[in-house]
Amino acid sequence: MNIKPEVAALHDELTQWRREIHAHPELAFEETRTSDFVAQKLEEFGIEVHRGIAHTGVVGVLRSGDPDAEHIGLRADMDALPIEEQTNAEYSSRIPGKMHACGHDGHTTMLLGAAKHLSRSGRFSGTVYFIFQPGEESAGGGRVMVEEGLFERFPMRSVYGMHNWPGIQTGVAATLTGPVMAASDTFSITITGKGGHAAMPHQGIDTVMVTCEAVGALQTIASRNCDPADPVVVSVTQIHGGDATNVIPQQVNIAGTARTFSKNARDMIEPAMRRIINGVCAAHGASAEFEFERGYPATVNSAHETTLAARAAARVLGDGNVIHDMNPCMGSEDFAYMLEERPGSYIWLGAGEGRAQLHSPHYDFNDEILPLGVSYWTALVEDQLPAE
Ligand SMILES: [Zn+2]
Ligand SMILES: [Zn+2]
Repeated sequence: MNIKPEVAALHDELTQWRREIHAHPELAFEETRTSDFVAQKLEEFGIEVHRGIAHTGVVGVLRSGDPDAEHIGLRADMDALPIEEQTNAEYSSRIPGKMHACGHDGHTTMLLGAAKHLSRSGRFSGTVYFIFQPGEESAGGGRVMVEEGLFERFPMRSVYGMHNWPGIQTGVAATLTGPVMAASDTFSITITGKGGHAAMPHQGIDTVMVTCEAVGALQTIASRNCDPADPVVVSVTQIHGGDATNVIPQQVNIAGTARTFSKNARDMIEPAMRRIINGVCAAHGASAEFEFERGYPATVNSAHETTLAARAAARVLGDGNVIHDMNPCMGSEDFAYMLEERPGSYIWLGAGEGRAQLHSPHYDFNDEILPLGVSYWTALVEDQLPAE
């Protein structure tokens, strides 16, 4: 482990910041207190601050040495989740029903720590953009930042993201080239038959039976329609229908999510679903209304930047502690929108094995990794923007 003494010395202060943010969680686009905290710290470090990008987003700009040298962006997310915290930690959420259960309090803190360290050390030549984005969890704050001109206003060549990852050992980082997180789309289907007496099914069209057949048939998309080497998940997660044991319901609603890595697979899902649903319904005389909504695209790491990210992580954690060929995750991440605009890389920083998973009410960010995250960001900047 290669942690600079100046970064190690920040550990108590970082822990304090992280717990302060943790105690005051804010949901998507409501991160005013967090955003004030970030802006105030950046100003204290003498960093140029831009606010109000995607409502509560903040970008800090730090220049050193040659202004024409490389420009890179480092991104952290700031939002919390609508979860009732059950950790009983002394710094637990003070806001009922809201909780930092994904560690974005830690991500914000690690990027602030890097801003503090780099503003003091100045051991680089170029421009660093510290991007604090709102609304990662489902609101697409990353997309809104891109739409509001993030890359035009702050012309970075490449952009980097990081997420803490329970289940990977502390002191280990993991990444891969190509898709790391999946595209996430949602669907909602209303199947209409002919409601009636359950004892006289021949007089109706049974929506429950049609639904069961349709849900089963949807699994053939992943198993029969897609290239087995290109993973696809279609999960029906809701079925709503019926109010009585002796009535065939007129309508049944089903909904769920589709996850894919490639554009080919993503483009194939919606028409395949329509074909299957309409086909099953037609076979039984029922009909369907179908809505398909595209969510976050796949998060795709570029090869060169991923090599640079892995190298920076190895410089901090040691060569043997960086996994270069991690399996991608079918979860999704709105850093994807930034990686659609610029090359870059997203890495997972181990938060320790045997800890509560992300989005659990028992999740607790591991403060031990704060200096590791700060050191990774710092190493990345010093590697890519070498001082003259
Ligand atoms: Zn999350
Ligand atoms: Zn997260």
